Amino acid sequence: MKRAIGIGIDAGGTFTKIVAATRTGRILAQQSLPTVPEGGPRRFVRRMADSVRVLERGLGAKGSVTLAIAGEVDLDRGALRCSPNLAAFEGFPLRRAMGAALRRRLSLHNDANMAGWGCYAFEFGRRFPSVVAITMGTGIGGGIVLDRRLFTGSTGSAAEIGHARIRDGSFPCRCGARGCLEAHAGSYGVLRTLREVLRERPRAASALRALRRIEPKDVSEAARRGDRIAREVWERVGRALGQGIVNLVYLLNPDAIALTGGLSSASPYFMGALRRVIRGESFSTPFSHTVIRASRHAGLGALGAALYSLEDAD
Ligand SMILES: [Zn+2]
Repeated sequence: MKRAIGIGIDAGGTFTKIVAATRTGRILAQQSLPTVPEGGPRRFVRRMADSVRVLERGLGAKGSVTLAIAGEVDLDRGALRCSPNLAAFEGFPLRRAMGAALRRRLSLHNDANMAGWGCYAFEFGRRFPSVVAITMGTGIGGGIVLDRRLFTGSTGSAAEIGHARIRDGSFPCRCGARGCLEAHAGSYGVLRTLREVLRERPRAASALRALRRIEPKDVSEAARRGDRIAREVWERVGRALGQGIVNLVYLLNPDAIALTGGLSSASPYFMGALRRVIRGESFSTPFSHTVIRASRHAGLGALGAALYSLEDAD
């Protein structure tokens, strides 16, 4: 049965966001609640199903549901294969359990893939058939929509752009390799780049030298105030992102790419460097075609899941 309302549940390591939306992306209701991974997957499913029921009671209608989750998803089994932030949920049949709790079929997808669908269906309003989302948080993920279809690859592991190698033998990544994009441009990559710049320029003044616990938002704030060290950090992050995007464009020739997630709010400080890398490519056709921008909307994972559930329903 086709439903009019899509419900997206986007589960991250700390918070889970639930969004109910219409097919055009109009948000009818939303809620954010703690994930509590240490409580285990059964308790998570029970709590989320309760929240969805309350939300539906308020709307007076039931919706189609897609669960988006941070980690590598086994699409056949409807379970998390591996997740650094939700290790307690690994192997648990999440799709079946949530489906049973809500008494309906639902789909389970990687959260970045759902952000990709959100970019396609909402950020760019279905204007472009081929769209990529790059999600920038602690790590870097991606979601690909090719010719208006979600592309997940043969094992559901497509779009892991964060582990594309951009520099041989450089910063170590959480995955164990060196030189991955996220090791340079994920939140820990930004902080490592900061340490590198501070080391290289021991005499340059910077407000960041005095801070004890630094987060990427401190580096953004310093850049906003004109701190030269902070500006150099974002310049390097922008170059790393530019290299990752160059590879992506050569491979997929997408119509549009949007950067989403918390770190994308630093785009005023890294977008210039990113665009300079893109402009440096001599093969101009794909690069002059691709629209590249920071997303204008937060929470594309949950909204993308809500919209995808309506595609999925049949
Ligand atoms: Zn990696």
